[in-house]
Amino acid sequence: MEHYSGSQKNKRKGGKNFRFLKSLGQNFLQDEEVILKILDGSDIGRDDLVIEVGPGDGALTVEAAGRAGKLIAIELDKRLIPVLNAALINRDNAEILNADILKTDIGALIRENPVPGKVRVIGNLPYYITTPIIMKFLEEGESVDTITVMMQKEVADRLTAAPGTKECGAITLETGYFAEITRICDVPKEAFMPMPKVESAVLRLDVRREPPVETEDRKFLFDVIKSGFTLRRKTLRNSLMTLGGFTREQIGQALEEAGIDPARRGETLDLEEYAVLAKALRRMKDQ
Ligand code: SAM
Repeated sequence: MEHYSGSQKNKRKGGKNFRFLKSLGQNFLQDEEVILKILDGSDIGRDDLVIEVGPGDGALTVEAAGRAGKLIAIELDKRLIPVLNAALINRDNAEILNADILKTDIGALIRENPVPGKVRVIGNLPYYITTPIIMKFLEEGESVDTITVMMQKEVADRLTAAPGTKECGAITLETGYFAEITRICDVPKEAFMPMPKVESAVLRLDVRREPPVETEDRKFLFDVIKSGFTLRRKTLRNSLMTLGGFTREQIGQALEEAGIDPARRGETLDLEEYAVLAKALRRMKDQ
């Protein structure tokens, strides 16, 4: 992982007379080096479909389209659509959709645009919806191969946290269930216009084709993980009571079956341990 020092030598034009909307998380990338880090980090190939979230005025879009087989960029702010179409005038493999990414059917989009290569998601995400966007691609985009995106550093730290650390949360284990995560670089505030209040980082998520742990019921596994993190600093046995539907004795029994000390705290368990625990709890439920 590289730390990026941040020069603004290569400031793009654009943004002139444009009123940035804070409510849409509009902090446009100004730094060519960071732009290249995202694009190089995502390994876009000639046969690949690239889905870009929030292209803005096209900082990543034009170069990404130049590298890809096909690019589809989804932008909510309709004022940016003519700007993007103008920037992409020479790229007939690029399509701009004026839509809300959270309301877009990702599976259908991929099925309607088959490619011989990989499906790559890229973007400098609108920070107010970072986690829902990432979870949407992980849960719905079965054939997505990689997700290489900029996010607030705090979220990146959370997604890459080790079990037992204070940054580790239910979301850490959930994203780890779906993908292998690599940190590409940290990015200073100065790389954006307008400058955000927080530092940023770029992560690459390589979506797993097989889950790393065995589970018959993913939703229940995730419920167990969430409940394990509900009462931080309390014992796992107390925390798991928030699941509902189990007596204290049943929870104790499931923990014993799973070989997990009931006095441990939920945030110290790894995904494998949660999977064994969820299996034991489910068996109890089915009895
Ligand atoms: N990619 C550009 C860049 O790096 O300069 C812009 C990035 S800016 C952080 C986030 C972009 O996402 C903005 O253009 C914003 O309008 C767009 N956006 C915000 N909410 C969105 C949503 N729900 N669906 C699609 N795009 C959205």
